[in-house]
Amino acid sequence: MMKIYIDGHYYEKHEACVSVFDHGLLYGDGVFEGIRIYGGGIFKLDAHVRRLYQSARAILLEIPLSEQEMKDAITGTVKANDKEDGYIRVLVTRGAGALGIDPSSCTKPSVIIIVGDIQLYPRSYYQEGIAVMTAASRRMPSDCLDARVKSLNYLNNIMAKLEARQAGCLEAVMLNKEGYVAECTGDNIFIVKDGDLYMPAPCYGALDGITMETIIELAGAMALTCHQSALTRYDLYTADECFLTGTGAEIIPVVQIDGRCIGDGKPGRITHGLREAFDKTVRQPVHLAA
Ligand code: PMP
Repeated sequence: MMKIYIDGHYYEKHEACVSVFDHGLLYGDGVFEGIRIYGGGIFKLDAHVRRLYQSARAILLEIPLSEQEMKDAITGTVKANDKEDGYIRVLVTRGAGALGIDPSSCTKPSVIIIVGDIQLYPRSYYQEGIAVMTAASRRMPSDCLDARVKSLNYLNNIMAKLEARQAGCLEAVMLNKEGYVAECTGDNIFIVKDGDLYMPAPCYGALDGITMETIIELAGAMALTCHQSALTRYDLYTADECFLTGTGAEIIPVVQIDGRCIGDGKPGRITHGLREAFDKTVRQPVHLAA
């Protein structure tokens, strides 16, 4: 039976409910994290909890748990659900309040932790790579809402995802207001050019991805040079390799962008090497403390 944590208590799936007055529901007022469980261990729990608290701080949302209490709550929920491999969704909403937008009527933020199965992409996507397209929907400008805030408000990403689906693609590249590449709807984007890695820096509208950070660490160990820089669609079209990174997708090769073949149209050698290194990192058994 699924055990869902809401504000210190566990509920079965059918009884886990939030108020219709929760500003998370009414206005997307809140923050969240998506985390993986591999072999009974929680991958990069510290980094996810840090990002959650930084997102909350940026939107003036006080989480009613210390960071250690949050880690304990997440670990406890994973244990309660007895999951060896899976996905954790942590949400902190502004809580229930009046119908108006003013968050001062919300006196108690809500913490929700859901532990479920991960919806994996088919193996063929990783072996053959995927096609992506550039969406007309732009990433929210960082001077409106910093891309590093992982908020409950994903509408422009959802619009871009709809565009991708309508075009028969799995993912869409999102540009920022100035036309530079920001990221995809739920993944960061990397290219390989002349043996170096390039990815958009957060100031271009990319989330500070934890998988992206892991790839940067692994690339360093493989003596690859990474540049966080400004990328245009030209850079994508003329790349030798391209791949996406995210907690759910891990590392997924991209072989076509807006109808242009990337490299020789097959997943590249460096992408493959990073994928193998990533696999070794996450699939090392890490067991939860007793
Ligand atoms: N960008 C966006 C918009 C995301 O929602 C995510 C997470 N799904 C990512 C990038 C990847 O971040 P992470 O590697 O931390 O999952």
